[in-house]
Amino acid sequence: MYYKQVDKRYRETMGKFLRKHFRYNTMNSWNRSTSYANNIKLHNVDKPADIDNDTWWEMLWITDWQNQLSNLLEDFGRKYSFQWQVGINGRSGGYVVLYKGGIKPSGYKSYCTHCGQKNYQAIAEGEIGICGRCDAKARVNFKQAHMQVFTWPGKSVDEYEDFEDWTLSALRERVELIQDFDRLCDDITAAYIDLCRNYRVTEEEIFVPKTIKVLEPV
Ligand SMILES: [Zn+2]
Repeated sequence: MYYKQVDKRYRETMGKFLRKHFRYNTMNSWNRSTSYANNIKLHNVDKPADIDNDTWWEMLWITDWQNQLSNLLEDFGRKYSFQWQVGINGRSGGYVVLYKGGIKPSGYKSYCTHCGQKNYQAIAEGEIGICGRCDAKARVNFKQAHMQVFTWPGKSVDEYEDFEDWTLSALRERVELIQDFDRLCDDITAAYIDLCRNYRVTEEEIFVPKTIKVLEPV
């Protein structure tokens, strides 16, 4: 369990919780910026006895798991309007790290309703929007400014902070954010265990189309 209860009546308990929380690099070790993190390397999580070893190790590389993981991370970001985001870092992807970020206008003015291709050019009044990718006459202007999510991967969070001059409400808000982050790490672990318990990894052969060059008589 990563989630811990914190007595939010006292400045001391909150400050201690934040200062003692596990941290990890936001980028790499030479960048030297760190943020709140949790180590979710699987060998540090107690494997439930009813899950066999192969499944426990193999499930990590399965697309279904990776999709489920990115959905969990995205939900967290959306909840905080992407001002706070969670990412995976570390050589073996074993650390969950809290990042600062936000949303800003992407600059895209129109998009193709047929293939989804976005375009920086707006369509003028009376003009027919043609898609640059699929040639469909289906390019239309975005009704609202199109936004994109950005992350500051190198930015540290509360790295040298002693929280001395923070108001009680600011401290509470930060503690609640970190508790929510810890809860997310518990959810990630629980989702992984759930997947391992209910599915097994099998192999399936797929055929991938490939373009090759051939000789044709002239
Ligand atoms: Zn198109």
